[in-house]
Amino acid sequence: MLHRKAGLRTRQAQLQAVNDAIPLGLVYTTLRGDCSYVNRTMEHMSGRSLASLRGKGWRHCVHPQDRLRLHAELVSWQSQDEQAPYTGICRLRGGKNALVWARLKVVPVLVDGKPVGYVGSVEDITERRANELALIKSEQRLRLITDNIPALVAYVTADERVAFANRRYEEAYGILQEELAGMPASEVLGPEVYAQSRPYIHQALAGTPVLFERTVNCEDGLRHERVSYIPDIEPQGAVTGYFGLVEDITSLKRVETQLRKLVRIDALTGIANRIQFEERLVDAVRYSRRYGTRMALLFLDIDHFKEINDTCGHQAGDNVLREFAQRLLGCVRDTDTVARLAGDEFVIILEGLGAAEEAPAVAAKIIGAMQTPFDVCGRQRTVTTSIGVAVRRQDEDDAQGLLGRADVALYRAKSAGRNTFETNTDSIDVF
Ligand code: GH3
Ligand code: MG
Repeated sequence: MLHRKAGLRTRQAQLQAVNDAIPLGLVYTTLRGDCSYVNRTMEHMSGRSLASLRGKGWRHCVHPQDRLRLHAELVSWQSQDEQAPYTGICRLRGGKNALVWARLKVVPVLVDGKPVGYVGSVEDITERRANELALIKSEQRLRLITDNIPALVAYVTADERVAFANRRYEEAYGILQEELAGMPASEVLGPEVYAQSRPYIHQALAGTPVLFERTVNCEDGLRHERVSYIPDIEPQGAVTGYFGLVEDITSLKRVETQLRKLVRIDALTGIANRIQFEERLVDAVRYSRRYGTRMALLFLDIDHFKEINDTCGHQAGDNVLREFAQRLLGCVRDTDTVARLAGDEFVIILEGLGAAEEAPAVAAKIIGAMQTPFDVCGRQRTVTTSIGVAVRRQDEDDAQGLLGRADVALYRAKSAGRNTFETNTDSIDVF
């Protein structure tokens, strides 16, 4: 008997020690909700002693604004047949009136299947909640910033799923922001854009920052995007995802294309300039060699042009250069290139010729076209030109050599008295 009593006391002491050791507050109540016991953690959390919490006393430590709601929730829970544990969150008034956020869990104490009271556990979640709130705030701040910058911003995880995407994605890719979270990047971008981006995604996920441009087919036409992927590398070296920054550079591209064109056009006459001519000549020689088509080059220089400048002024000379360029365009096909190299020097690339003889024929046509007088400062004046013709040789792949041969022929035409053309037939295997 004495033994049994001693054993019981030991077990009670053990239970007491366990209750006091756990980091949760514990509350035992009767069926009517009167507190019969709280552990030390609960005393500490509430800043009150068991004596003051006993009976209905425990209710005083629930924050007044949460008291009614908690009471209603517990009454409703008690009235349910299958009593799954009650869980809820409420505020407590801790020691020195400090606010404690608590998560409650209440279960019935069952004897022979019948409830004889309740046990409630109380978890102090004040710090965790503050951290969560801070995180939410910082995410809100991040969203506010990223939603208002003129770029697409996203975070994609290592398994290529979108973890974060700013609002600009809605307009750019037509997907609601709520739907974007968790979506595979391939689905967001669509097959075409994903195919363009895939090698760069793999590079970023291998730890290398990348910068590239891609095009997106959209309702308004083609959109050009400049994309930057920055890998998210953990201190241990693992890549957990990448940050994506995408700028719409469509208008920039438009300006760039315009500038590219302008830089290749002669401002005075509106025809191709030396830069465009040199590019086209290299292309034309390469094409002619690869496909066995015939091509030729005409090198032209206006005769006695200085006299026009000297007698009628530079402005009149400019007008002659413009008119001269227009007449040249009238003598060739759309596929040929007419360019002004400098001053009164012009060149013409003739492509897809049926026979080598067609090149001097075009030269003769030009000589003929210049016989009609020009209107130079109110007076009619004949402006003639000398032309050097060079037809590409069968094995010739040196564009500069071809230009040189045309120049030599031009020199001969000038020496021959001007207003004529000469063909460079240095080689007999003219193709
Ligand atoms: P040649 O028959 O030997 O060709 O005699 P030329 O008087 O035409 O002499 P040349 O071709 O050497 O002279 C070209 C002149 O073109 C020299 C320069 O003053 C003039 N010139 C160069 N650029 C321009 C321009 O943009 N506008 C005008 N009006 N004249 C230019
Ligand atoms: Mg000249």
